Amino acid sequence: MSAIPLSPSNRITLSARPQPRRGTYFVQTWGCQMNEEDSEQIGLYLESIGFEKANNMLEAQVILLNTCSVRKKPEDKAFSLLGELQILKKTRKDIIVGVCGCMAQARSEEIKRRAPFLDFVLGTGDLGLLPGLVEEAAQNRKFRMRVELPERKGTVVEEVPQRRIDRVPKLKAFVPIQYGCDKFCTYCIVPTTRGRERSRPSADIYEEVALMASAGTKEVTLLGQTVNSYGKNLLEGRVPFSQLLWKLAEIEGLERIRYTSPYPRDFKADLIEAVRDCPKVMEHCHLPLQSGDDEMLVEMKRVYTIESFEKIISELREAVPHMGLTTDVIVGFPGETDRQFENTLATMERIRFDGAYMFAYSIRPGTPAGDRKDQIPEDVKKDRLARLIDQQNRIAAEKNEEWIGREMEILVEGVSARNPGTLQGYSREFRMVCFKGDPSRVGRTAKVVGVSAHQWGLVGELI
Ligand code: SF4
Repeated sequence: MSAIPLSPSNRITLSARPQPRRGTYFVQTWGCQMNEEDSEQIGLYLESIGFEKANNMLEAQVILLNTCSVRKKPEDKAFSLLGELQILKKTRKDIIVGVCGCMAQARSEEIKRRAPFLDFVLGTGDLGLLPGLVEEAAQNRKFRMRVELPERKGTVVEEVPQRRIDRVPKLKAFVPIQYGCDKFCTYCIVPTTRGRERSRPSADIYEEVALMASAGTKEVTLLGQTVNSYGKNLLEGRVPFSQLLWKLAEIEGLERIRYTSPYPRDFKADLIEAVRDCPKVMEHCHLPLQSGDDEMLVEMKRVYTIESFEKIISELREAVPHMGLTTDVIVGFPGETDRQFENTLATMERIRFDGAYMFAYSIRPGTPAGDRKDQIPEDVKKDRLARLIDQQNRIAAEKNEEWIGREMEILVEGVSARNPGTLQGYSREFRMVCFKGDPSRVGRTAKVVGVSAHQWGLVGELI
């Protein structure tokens, strides 16, 4: 089943035929895996109209900034790079420079004002517009702005055609299965920058993963902002996320399926069963907690309680005792008191995640939390973050120690750059493991026993 196009006049579909070489492109990417994935898609679109990947930005004819709005830092970096590109463009008038991604969606007018030399600003609604924008820029240099988001909830506009078929196969690949978000957490800009939740038709996903597996991909990570709510509003009818996992598990050659990030409230029994019973679904779950305090969760508009979150954790651990569990946590959300922060520390200590991405709250203009007057001072946020990281680092090292003497299955990804002769990869539970071995093992799974543990993972020995 094909995706429903947004149908702007200048949408160009990827050409299957090779195009004459026209120059090179460079994409600078900030942000999440979804953005990394978009950048790959951007590359495919540019290659479809005759551009090749440049080795560096300075030699490229088309330069794209694929931006991120989740925190302030990547936005600052994008504006700083735009300043440098303005200088470059004075001497190289032929280059085409565009901004896309979440920041292009959320701050298009400001970008246009601060970087008037740009050729175009393209939001997240439809990357398929990119070839047309580049063609127009090459012909008449008029500034273009395309930041419409799909109007209809459930409409999938993102076409993902012919992906990677001509590329060197990747051992591991990310596969977006859902775009946008309907949750509207008060700190988050994603529903504004990526629009309402839309799922890709299951047949498209299956076809893409099968194509990648036939080319040598062994592991896929399914991507979505709330990945486990996948499958609503599809023309084919509702497809539960667990059903998609079972279906993809049928693909020959595919060995591992991961997914990120599930939303706690939507984590139901059928998904726990798939994690327990489907051998290709890895025993790891990244379940964002965000805060360990019920009052904070209400303020964040996260629709679950600590009790219900811990119930999912217990059920997962009961189903798969060695389950790897990781999370995201924000400290210093507006109004967070010392007591509420202590509750987060206590919750994290009780749950004992194997790893966590921990952040100090960053004001996102245009979000309910960003407009609040009770912002926490930077030094308090910094102090809370340092305390949480200290605690979590200790727990992570202790959790890794539990794997000393135990067997792990590692997908060998490569040879360590620092220690030639040492191979590295991730266990099924998402532990980074290094061990001595022959490079011919790269690309295959290996059985390894843990011999020493660190905060970052384990050193092991081949069995
Ligand atoms: S679930 Fe919340 S934090 Fe995650 S993308 Fe949606 S709005 Fe943002």
